Amino acid sequence: MIRFDIAIIGAGMAGASLAAEIGDAARVVLLEAESQPGYHSTGRSAAFWSETYGGPAVQPLTSASGPFLIEHGFVGERGGLHIADAAGRPALAALADEFAASGVTLEPRDRAALEARLPGLRPGWDAGLAEPDCRDIDVAALHAFYLAAARRAGTTLRRDAAVTAIARHGDGWRLTTRDAEITAGIVVNAAGAWANEVAALAGALPIAITPYRRTIVQIAVDPPAPADMPVVLDAAGTFYFKPEAGGRLWLSPHDETPTPPCDAQPEELDVAIAIDRFEHVVNWRVLKRERAWAGLRSFTPDRAPVYGFDPGAPGFFWFAGQGGFGIQTAPAAALLGAALLTGRPLPDAVRAIDPARYRPERFSLG
Ligand SMILES: Cc1cc2nc3c(=O)[nH]c(=O)nc-3n(C[C@H](O)[C@H](O)[C@H](O)COP(=O)(O)OP(=O)(O)OC[C@H]3O[C@@H](n4cnc5c(N)ncnc54)[C@H](O)[C@@H]3O)c2cc1C
Repeated sequence: MIRFDIAIIGAGMAGASLAAEIGDAARVVLLEAESQPGYHSTGRSAAFWSETYGGPAVQPLTSASGPFLIEHGFVGERGGLHIADAAGRPALAALADEFAASGVTLEPRDRAALEARLPGLRPGWDAGLAEPDCRDIDVAALHAFYLAAARRAGTTLRRDAAVTAIARHGDGWRLTTRDAEITAGIVVNAAGAWANEVAALAGALPIAITPYRRTIVQIAVDPPAPADMPVVLDAAGTFYFKPEAGGRLWLSPHDETPTPPCDAQPEELDVAIAIDRFEHVVNWRVLKRERAWAGLRSFTPDRAPVYGFDPGAPGFFWFAGQGGFGIQTAPAAALLGAALLTGRPLPDAVRAIDPARYRPERFSLG
């Protein structure tokens, strides 16, 4: 039997960042089912940081993560452009209203301004909001940074270590993996799309976190996408695209197909829809579909993440429901989670955030 203070299940962005922020305050083990941490959602993201993405409940976490990401060089200039045709105008107006008092910069753009940023824009896309602070994130570097920081602080990373059973053991827990029995005072559920399964093993609250598949296709286009092009997001939420090296584009149909936790793969139909929607936005020719991938974005019922101790399973800590924003919120979420876990005061970077809005109790029955 191997003893730890805290066993974190899942070594994606959530588990890795949390382990790093706990640091040497506890003996931590990170248990990862795959041989490669980051194999699932963390390795499949669109890699951008947008303060509007995820809505007002997520924005404080995203905004509070910005200074860390900038300071450590994990983000690069990009800019965002929310565009609307006639059907999308109410959604564009709602976006402006939602963030009016938030401090997030959103600037109106007319047709001429949109065309200047997106030459070849088709008729009908007449209104927009620029989000100048939107950035690209180097996801692999951020994840590697957190894994390395956790290792330096003494965290043990066990790969190929799927947790298959969790049982009470004294005041804490006993966890079973393929080749080890581990005890820990606290179990952390950072299992991404598998959060429900892990909670069920421990008899924790059934929060109903649902994984949804999202597809990205990389295309070559003519003319090549300008390197300084912003991320272009449909205000009505039916596509986004952003430039990649060599004038390519990453394009998503903004699909959200509920899917059991799995190694998600792209469906041909979603790829075709992505390209069709793109061709209705600009008159650029799609030369080649180079590759496509899919990943799971896992949401709680109210679409805000869940951080905190389970109300009915003592020593079971939720760090799940990171949806489509688990990279851009990781620095602030990890600081918050580590403070809640260790009983430390909230650090300055997240002091203005009320952790109560992310508590698991909000999903308790009755
Ligand atoms: C197409 C797409 C685009 C996205 N774009 C963005 C974006 O631009 N910006 C952004 O911020 N976010 C984005 N996201 C969301 C982001 O990728 C996720 O929120 C984030 O990666 C979630 O991290 P995680 O650690 O919770 O999950 P994961 O990376 O999936 O990690 C969970 C880990 O838990 C492990 N695990 C599960 N069960 C067990 C078990 N029983 N025992 C041991 N290990 C277990 C899994 O193997 C997995 O490695 C996107 C996601 C997708 C799919």
